[in-house]
Amino acid sequence: MQVLKLGGSVITFKDKDMTADHEGIRRLSDEIKAAWPLPLVLVHGGGSFGHPVAKKYRLTEGYKSERQVAGFARTHRAMHELNSIVVDALLEKGVPAISISPSSFILTEEGRIRSINLEVIGRLVVRGILPVLFGDVVIDRSKGFTILSGDQLAVRLAIDMGAERLIFGVDVDGVYTSNPKLVPEARIIRELPLEQLVGYIKIGEALTTDVTGGMLGKVSEAREAVEAGVEVLIANATSSDVILKALRGEPVTGTILKR
Ligand code: ADP
Repeated sequence: MQVLKLGGSVITFKDKDMTADHEGIRRLSDEIKAAWPLPLVLVHGGGSFGHPVAKKYRLTEGYKSERQVAGFARTHRAMHELNSIVVDALLEKGVPAISISPSSFILTEEGRIRSINLEVIGRLVVRGILPVLFGDVVIDRSKGFTILSGDQLAVRLAIDMGAERLIFGVDVDGVYTSNPKLVPEARIIRELPLEQLVGYIKIGEALTTDVTGGMLGKVSEAREAVEAGVEVLIANATSSDVILKALRGEPVTGTILKR
């Protein structure tokens, strides 16, 4: 089984609120269809759908005031809308995709997943159905609620479902020595051994302080999957056929995280 996480940077225009990259989503649906059927779980990020609302209501801080409750519901709604666009595109291409909302079956504690029931997802996969999950608002036992990132969710699913491979589709070719969008001379790291991941602060140093937010978060989440024996690949989902080849296990340009 494989888990594919498509970043918000891949399926939305991050600088335009509530704007999906329909063309990109159609192309990726074509690629998934070309690899279909295969045991797969798909997770996607929020990009310009979930993040702006979540930020407005400061949801990552947990429950602080009554006015955030509307933000909780609205963030879910925004994510569900993006999810519907993804699921519709997959169905149109002939992939039997079904939407699964993390907020309805996952609980966190201090922002980390504590309760998750995977029986339904596992049985859907066995039936040849593609579960499509997403970064979502969730009830948190200690903070009231929080945002569960698609990255944390994808890692948890990969570990708990015994996936062989976890593919992160992002908008850059992999992990670089520095943020390639800021540093033109940054070089791609093809294999990143686990020792270099231990204590991601060190990675921050190794890759210079440019490894911020996105990629740093991803790599530190991914560490747990690598430790559990899941092969983790970070590759460019905005380049044609990279995801198709990755799903087929063919070599692609990207970064492999290794034990
Ligand atoms: P997504 O939303 O697709 O899950 P993010 O946008 O959060 O992904 O993270 C990917 C981004 O991380 C890249 O677009 C890049 O700008 C940034 N980044 C920062 N440091 C690095 C690095 N060392 N190597 C690769 N990308 C990096």
